[in-house]
Amino acid sequence: MLQVITIDGVSGSGKSSTAKLLAKQLGFCHLDTGAMYRTHTLMAIRSGLKPDQYDELGRLAEKLDFSFSDAKELMVNGKPLPSEIRSPEISSHVSEYCKPHEVRKVMALQQRKLGLSKPCVAEGRDMATVVFPDARWKFYMTARPEVRAQRRVKELELAGHSVKYEEILRNLGERDDKDSNREHAPLKKAENAVEIDTSDLTMDQQVSTIANLVRSAP
Ligand code: C5P
Repeated sequence: MLQVITIDGVSGSGKSSTAKLLAKQLGFCHLDTGAMYRTHTLMAIRSGLKPDQYDELGRLAEKLDFSFSDAKELMVNGKPLPSEIRSPEISSHVSEYCKPHEVRKVMALQQRKLGLSKPCVAEGRDMATVVFPDARWKFYMTARPEVRAQRRVKELELAGHSVKYEEILRNLGERDDKDSNREHAPLKKAENAVEIDTSDLTMDQQVSTIANLVRSAP
């Protein structure tokens, strides 16, 4: 079986921080596929593309070459991913731009290639269901909406963005809705994934819960 740990789940459930720390602990690469879609969205907006220009968006995806640096960080066309991909503007557009099949098929192929190249923790919405159905370990993270919004507000404030709790709560809900109901590769729990509700867990507990399960089923 493929030496990949998949972590899927709703926005703000703690996937990214958990995947990052877990990858570090295990010496795996962190394959942050949300960051890949965010990078594509940023480039699309900068190029003046609209979410319904499917062919152009697909061609743009083909021009983005993702790789891992020696430090196991994700790079695009040989450079670190731009910090703007975390801005509220990109968060509010990414679910529209990542929807078309023309975009997803190109991105999924690159994700699969990266996952086959090195042991990694692959984090996203369709990792266990579409990109790595043969992964050795599969997890699905959830948390109560209010907890997720509070976490996201804290994260964005720390990164210097000024944000409103209600807006963040609404954005998370809208993204969950779009991600779960889209036609191609919707967000859903794989049948054989282990579900973890992180609402009442600290970050340390989230990471150790998964690390322990991985170690007990090597
Ligand atoms: O994980 P993150 O919140 O950074 O992902 C940003 C957006 O990218 C998600 O809301 C979703 O629309 C999209 N995404 C996706 N499939 C993935 C990862 C992310 O559609 N595998």
